[in-house]
Amino acid sequence: MWFRVGWKCRVWTGQFPAPSGSSDPPGASSGVRMGRRRRLAGARLDSGPMSCSAPHFSAAVLADSRLRAVVIGAGPAGLMAAETLLAGGAAVQVYDAMPSVGRKFLLAGKGGLNLTHAEPPASFRARYGERSAEVGRWLDRLDAQGLRDWAAELGIQTFVGSSGKVFPAEMKAAPLLRAWLHRLRMQGAVFHMRQRWTGALQPTSGAGWQLEFSGPDGVRTVQADRVLLALGGASWPQLGSDGAWQAWLDEAGVPVAPLVSANCGFEVRWSAFLRERHAGQPLKAVRLRHRDGQGQLFERTGEAVVSDYGLEGGLIYAASAPLRRDIAARGPAQVELDLLPQRSLEEVTAALARGRGSRSWTNHLREQTGLAGVKAALLREGLDAAAWPALQTQPAALARRIKALPLCLEAPRPVAEAISSAGGVRLEGLDASLQLRSHPGVACAGEMLDWEAPTGGYLLTACFASGRVAAEGLLNREVRSAGLDSGAAGPICPPNRLP
Ligand SMILES: Cc1cc2nc3c(=O)[nH]c(=O)nc-3n(C[C@H](O)[C@H](O)[C@H](O)COP(=O)(O)OP(=O)(O)OC[C@H]3O[C@@H](n4cnc5c(N)ncnc54)[C@H](O)[C@@H]3O)c2cc1C
Repeated sequence: MWFRVGWKCRVWTGQFPAPSGSSDPPGASSGVRMGRRRRLAGARLDSGPMSCSAPHFSAAVLADSRLRAVVIGAGPAGLMAAETLLAGGAAVQVYDAMPSVGRKFLLAGKGGLNLTHAEPPASFRARYGERSAEVGRWLDRLDAQGLRDWAAELGIQTFVGSSGKVFPAEMKAAPLLRAWLHRLRMQGAVFHMRQRWTGALQPTSGAGWQLEFSGPDGVRTVQADRVLLALGGASWPQLGSDGAWQAWLDEAGVPVAPLVSANCGFEVRWSAFLRERHAGQPLKAVRLRHRDGQGQLFERTGEAVVSDYGLEGGLIYAASAPLRRDIAARGPAQVELDLLPQRSLEEVTAALARGRGSRSWTNHLREQTGLAGVKAALLREGLDAAAWPALQTQPAALARRIKALPLCLEAPRPVAEAISSAGGVRLEGLDASLQLRSHPGVACAGEMLDWEAPTGGYLLTACFASGRVAAEGLLNREVRSAGLDSGAAGPICPPNRLP
């Protein structure tokens, strides 16, 4: 008979267990069945419930009987899950398709790693929109302050920027990732890079799962008691998260919402003049207004950038969820841009009505309103050769255009270019501990789950928190008799690899 040590009581207490002494815990080797050793069958389990503080078994026996957990995806969610599983006493093997870990995390740190946000918990949770209740439960396990404390334990101090965003003191992701990987290795995590999960996941007779990875040395099969998928979304696929898992999970009956662009730019049909002269220029302090088909108003002041394809930047990313939905429902979205949000319509009208004298119209506009460069050029967009000079003589009409410049956003940019993706494994397909209802013992975490949030540190926070929740769920999973765990679940197979 195979049995498991009472690991259920070994949930994370915040203390990390000492390294087992083995740098290669049982659980993953090329094509080898990684069963627990039969000599464990001699250990006594009939003397009442196990106590966490007084283990019944020697360290060697415990090491052999550890839960074999495979984490696929070494981004923030997968690494947090690995850490939690290790802390719970599991033997953890981490697999990733890329040659090195955390590539997107490192990229996120290039322009300043926005780890989390310091706003009050209620407004923080509201950032997750329709999913704020579910994500809020993950944040109960690891919230913004918890994340800052966690970083501090790694020796990474954080600070709150003027907008409330939280950054590491050094701004970059690399020092944090370096310290974290070192700690994970010391705790016994084993990393397998350039190993791409093929999508194959089949229940084994021993209540676990058999997985298949393809790497430089060919295909290997791996057995695990618990599997954690943290495969990311579909943005920036060159960094590893290519969303290929969507088809695999969908075929296996896991409900998946298609991955679409979030925090993305939008296409606008600029004139050749605007593209050639002004692409890449920032629009500082503009106010975006958009009313969707349901009458919901988005209105916010921020910064955008005119790009050769359209508009991008923080303000546009913030509006991207309602804009994307509206475009999907009704086609191109009409928005208004207030180019002078700090001045009223009346003030702008009065300023433009002042005598121009011998000054050029461009100088008059700049002196009276401060508008120049790309903002001034935008006023002319879409107007024909006759309309533009006519508008220059009508202060009230021109002021209205400055305060509510109409723009047509045709489509979101492709998900591969977006900062993040929306869609993914529907939360209805998961239990509260993020295990797949259809595949018990297999959990999902991070951006591959169906939630979205604006930039501002909310993405990483939810990835970390969901990684922790999913791993805790796997650790706490009630162990039933062999065969019952996964017997009800069908295999997940990539196309052409049906068993
Ligand atoms: C340019 C940019 C800047 C960003 N800046 C910020 C920021 O400042 N703050 C913030 O909160 N968020 C930011 N984000 C978003 C944040 O980086 C992501 O939300 C986060 O990395 C997602 O974490 P994850 O662990 O779910 O997935 P990922 O980080 O995408 O990791 C998934 C991993 O799974 C691996 N994988 C995928 N498929 C397979 C397979 N079949 N087999 C094996 N391995 C596989 C991938 O190689 C990858 O390593 C930024 C994103 C981008 C693109």
